Amino acid sequence: MSDTLSLTAATAAARIRAGELDPAELWHGYRERAAADEHNAFVWVAPDGDAPAVDRDAPLAGVPVAVKDLFCTEGVPSQAGSRILEGYRPPYTATSVARLTGAGAPLLAKTNQDEFAMGSSTEHSAFGPTRNPWDIARVPGGSSGGSAAAVAAGSAPWAIGTDTGGSIRQPAALCGIVGLKPTYGAVSRYGMIAFASSLDQAGPLTRDVTDAALLFGAMAGQDPCDSTSIGLPAPVELPSRMDLRGVRIGVPDELTGEGIEPGVLASFERTLELVKELGATVEPVRLPHAPHALSAYYLIAPAEASSNLARYDGVRYGYRADGVRDLLEMYTKTRAEGFGAEVKRRIMLGTYALSSGYYDAYYGRAQKVRTLISGDFNAAWERFDFVATPTAPTVAFELGAKLEDPLAMYLNDFLAVPMSLAGIPGISIPSGLSEGLPVGFQLAGPAFSENALLDAAYALERAIDFRDAPWRKLA
Ligand code: GLN
Repeated sequence: MSDTLSLTAATAAARIRAGELDPAELWHGYRERAAADEHNAFVWVAPDGDAPAVDRDAPLAGVPVAVKDLFCTEGVPSQAGSRILEGYRPPYTATSVARLTGAGAPLLAKTNQDEFAMGSSTEHSAFGPTRNPWDIARVPGGSSGGSAAAVAAGSAPWAIGTDTGGSIRQPAALCGIVGLKPTYGAVSRYGMIAFASSLDQAGPLTRDVTDAALLFGAMAGQDPCDSTSIGLPAPVELPSRMDLRGVRIGVPDELTGEGIEPGVLASFERTLELVKELGATVEPVRLPHAPHALSAYYLIAPAEASSNLARYDGVRYGYRADGVRDLLEMYTKTRAEGFGAEVKRRIMLGTYALSSGYYDAYYGRAQKVRTLISGDFNAAWERFDFVATPTAPTVAFELGAKLEDPLAMYLNDFLAVPMSLAGIPGISIPSGLSEGLPVGFQLAGPAFSENALLDAAYALERAIDFRDAPWRKLA
């Protein structure tokens, strides 16, 4: 059994299709591992019982998938890591989840996350923190930390998460797996419990790049239920590229210097050498406004969040405070008791930034910076195919290390946020270790360059040949 659990999802799917692997055996193996998980990666695991019926000829061939808590799933708890959605069972399923189950991947579990996806460590969850399978004293990153920990530990074959300002790429980096944030609009947001609607984007967290392409291909596409979904110009292809000949990679000074741990930078530099050996050119590129991305992000994302979270009033969903005398007290007490400290901080920041006297000074200005950041990337694409940076400035840090210092927590995302503001795709792949912990290498490309991005990441993944991940030790 453990041999089976150490297969990548694409290999397991191929074996099921060939009649060499029983999908029911795979299901029970993962279900039991997920139920016994010691990292607090899951907030709900499918109940024991008969394995779901699967279609071996479907694209995902019965390989089960774990899904971040914030994806609405009919009849299944969907709380976005928040107490305020306690007891909520959505009457419908998110498009991306419906597409995965429709493509033959049964729902294995819901994964832990920072409350409403606000955070970089999965410590801001009403369900308690998730632990990093590499070292349980450390965080898995966030906000999709449950999905990343589950995949790294081998208690799920693959998972999906969301990335608003790094929440797929950064936990993938800190857990030594692959995470893809697609182009904004490539995947439907319908049924995702919203954080910041102009940034939220769903994507895969997987053991390798091939799995990422397979899972992404099954979830992407235009959706009439989300008017901002545009689908992809071409179907997602499985990556096959063996080298990087002719590929031009830009390395921005602004995102490869100050604030990055020496061990992370050393791994990044080593990976750039491999990139060159594979035939790519590597040259400096300027992204002059990128250093301002984090400031702009922490105005835009909280502004959108303060509006999106206004709906949690104790009337319509989930938790309602007791012992209240009137309607206003029901609203205020429900919100005071239902939201955690980080969510309240964002609501206050966002409400302030949008208030009439400050709108132009904060929110309006942040939107201008966002446009400048997109412009920087557009200029870069005239000379380069991709931009490369480390994914996160540090390796996984200890639980509690940044919990009392919100700004230190926010800084985790300064390499991921520029791509989010520009709406462009970024992928993180493991590039090696620093002090025994995984380091992520990020490649970002123009909007809708996913096929090329996955292909380049695949060639690089083969050259890096990262073999240390905990899930490999299941064999
Ligand atoms: N860590 C960032 C934040 O807290 C990004 C979160 C995300 O991408 N969901 O906003």
